[in-house]
Amino acid sequence: MDYKIKNLETKVVHSGEPKEKINGAVVFPIYQSAMFLYDGEQDYNDLKYIRLNNTPNQTTLHEKLAAIEGGEAALVTSSGMAAISTTLLTLLEGGGHLLAQDSLYGGTHGFITNDFSGLGLSYSFIKSNDPDSWQGEIKPNSRVIYVESITNPTIQIIDLQAVVNFAKKHDLISVIDNTFASPVNFNPIEMGFDLVIHSATKYLNGHSDIVAGCIVGRGKLVEKITHKLNHLGGSLDPHACFLFQRGIKTLVLRLERQNRSAMALARFLENHPAVKKVNYPGLESHPQHALAKKWFRGFGGMISFEIKGEMDDVTDFLNNLNIPLLAPSLGGVETLVVLPAVSSHASLTKAERKKIGIADTLVRVSVGIESAEELIADFKQALEKIL
Ligand code: PLP
Repeated sequence: MDYKIKNLETKVVHSGEPKEKINGAVVFPIYQSAMFLYDGEQDYNDLKYIRLNNTPNQTTLHEKLAAIEGGEAALVTSSGMAAISTTLLTLLEGGGHLLAQDSLYGGTHGFITNDFSGLGLSYSFIKSNDPDSWQGEIKPNSRVIYVESITNPTIQIIDLQAVVNFAKKHDLISVIDNTFASPVNFNPIEMGFDLVIHSATKYLNGHSDIVAGCIVGRGKLVEKITHKLNHLGGSLDPHACFLFQRGIKTLVLRLERQNRSAMALARFLENHPAVKKVNYPGLESHPQHALAKKWFRGFGGMISFEIKGEMDDVTDFLNNLNIPLLAPSLGGVETLVVLPAVSSHASLTKAERKKIGIADTLVRVSVGIESAEELIADFKQALEKIL
């Protein structure tokens, strides 16, 4: 039977899984073998070897991820940063110029600003809120435009359709980090993006127990990036692939809960007298709410908010919380809170942070799958203590 799976809920469970079950095993097994018997392969990249990204635990995931994001091909990598760095190194090879969104995940920002010049690559940051100014940043060697679907930690959304149109007009490859939105809420390829990247460490795996990444999109580009990764060596090992494959099966269920709980928590926070400002695209007060509503199926599990008061009040608030854990990263089943000013964005000066909207009292929340009612009650009691 050649059944074509239609819906995301079914794809996360069944896409990429072998139709003929291996020894009857319902769950795809772990092939803990570095190499496989030679079978007449003619090309180095086709030799079956874990570093060459073509062994069973990798290829089954490639198929599932391509189906989930609606791309022609996919590649899993040993981290989100391996996916980002390998993609940019491939596409910009030989002295290319990158147009990158002005507020990016700190690791990506650091790779561009610290490593590019030594590699003979160049970049310009484009203003998220001013598409008319992007044209002025184009250089003769510009090849790629790189953005994020939702930015960290201010939870802003660039005009994504304008990015796609701009890329097409100027013959640039459009790349988007879709980690924060997740494929449950947004499929950039449908909008016209060429490549989608994820830190699978976050929502795709969803259980805070592996570091992984992936790239999905046009087949020719994914093949080129795969060959570069074959040399750089950032491959995902079979056991991590197995955990990733297991985690992704509950992606839709987790995100549906996280979308709902984050919406409820954001509304609660917006109406609380100890809270100055809430950043969540599902709120009518969010500057890109109308765009988010048009493009996204849900608004995601990430919120940031400013507490009224000083650093001591924020510290007291965090200490008063019972359920959320104070830890970096995001997208797992447990609710996590961080202070970007003293963690992900501590390397910036206070003035630089202020410029991109990161107050010292900004708290970022990754909403988990716990009871929303219990979470809100916990935030309520912790906020009441600092009033
Ligand atoms: N992209 C985003 C939006 C992230 O938040 C992160 C990590 O926090 C990364 C990429 C990097 O992913 P990894 O830590 O899996 O290398």
